[in-house]
Amino acid sequence: MAIERTLSIVKPDGVAAGNIGNILAIFEKNGLKLVAGKLIWLNRQKAREFYAVHKERPFFNSLVDFMVSGPCFVSVLEGENAIKKNRELMGATDPAKADAGTIRKLYATGIEKNAVHGSDAVETAKVEISHFFSGLELNDYERS
Ligand code: ADP
Ligand code: MG
Repeated sequence: MAIERTLSIVKPDGVAAGNIGNILAIFEKNGLKLVAGKLIWLNRQKAREFYAVHKERPFFNSLVDFMVSGPCFVSVLEGENAIKKNRELMGATDPAKADAGTIRKLYATGIEKNAVHGSDAVETAKVEISHFFSGLELNDYERS
């Protein structure tokens, strides 16, 4: 199995409800290690860029409004099959369809305000991590 990195976001609803710690605890208990993390309040341009893949969808403007409504906690998680594992821990996009015990079942309040984001593939993970973190912040350099 491959050691991967993935981008995780605790969305503004999750931060506002005080669930950063609860969500990170689920990652840590399930073998995903935090390699970088910070609280960041997106502006509209950054939110539009991040979700550009959805720009033709009817929910796009509402999604952007939501993502700039308060700070997010963005982090990079690392572990075996981290991308798939994170998505399993998050559960389905719509919390009504999410399995019991998943982050979205526990903390999401609807299909839009669904508490967390997680990258969906190796390539998108790379691009999404680079939206928020530099090599220095990822500790990707020779320390000796
Ligand atoms: P996921 O976050 O599970 O990868 P998508 O990439 O399909 O889901 O959608 C990105 C985000 O857009 C979702 O997490 C959710 O916040 C929002 N979203 C998706 N579908 C809808 C919808 N039908 N109505 C409102 N918001 C939606
Ligand atoms: Mg997605």
